[in-house]
Amino acid sequence: MKRTFLFNAILIVAFNSVNAQQSTNPKDTEAWSPVPKMVSFQNTPADAIILFNGGNLNQWLTVKDKSAAKWTVKDNIFTVNKGTGNIETKQSFSNYQLHIEWLIPANITGSGQARGNSGLFLASTGVGDSGYELQLLDSYNNSTYSNGQAGSIYKQAIPLVNASKKPGEWQSYDIVWNAPVFNDNGSLKSAARVTVLHNGILIQNNVEIKGETVYIGAPFYKKHGPSPIKLQDHGDPSEPISFRNIWIREL
Ligand code: MG
Repeated sequence: MKRTFLFNAILIVAFNSVNAQQSTNPKDTEAWSPVPKMVSFQNTPADAIILFNGGNLNQWLTVKDKSAAKWTVKDNIFTVNKGTGNIETKQSFSNYQLHIEWLIPANITGSGQARGNSGLFLASTGVGDSGYELQLLDSYNNSTYSNGQAGSIYKQAIPLVNASKKPGEWQSYDIVWNAPVFNDNGSLKSAARVTVLHNGILIQNNVEIKGETVYIGAPFYKKHGPSPIKLQDHGDPSEPISFRNIWIREL
């Protein structure tokens, strides 16, 4: 009796073990929840926050004094108004998908870093150029250091390829940003990561960010929470660059 019970028990365990390893039912690996929400795309995704679609810069502020953004809006685009300073979104974000279109003017002059320089700070952590800069620059036919050309994470990550278009042609960045996470004591829990497509071409593939962009020295992190997105009014004397069609989806 005891032996029969033991024998049966071994048989059941063996059967279940084989069954677990060799399921023949495709339904065992189907996940039916959660159901992804329906999102349609008509010019912008239906669930996007529009940061600029041609009307005004009401979603943006001058960083240094939080006054209204003073860049120039005309013909459904806006253009850096040199000397008025960096601008940033009124709203703060953590993880997001962002689309932005930008134009180096056809008559651009200058060379190296002084040729259509601007920047998109993936998170603005204060005044000036603080934060994590994705470089905007004319890199169509313009030599500079590789980790400072268009599509670089400035002085941290060289783009995989140069996907630049000619001055006078609109370009786009599509960005997936995963913000850094900090411990209560201010130390880094997990680094930020970024993926960037430039004109539809992958140029930054889930790159780990080393810290905030610095002009001199090594990048470093300092604790911050949800942050605005900032555009750079670079001090170089070349013709100002323009922007259009900016939207963001919080993740
Ligand atoms: Mg820049």
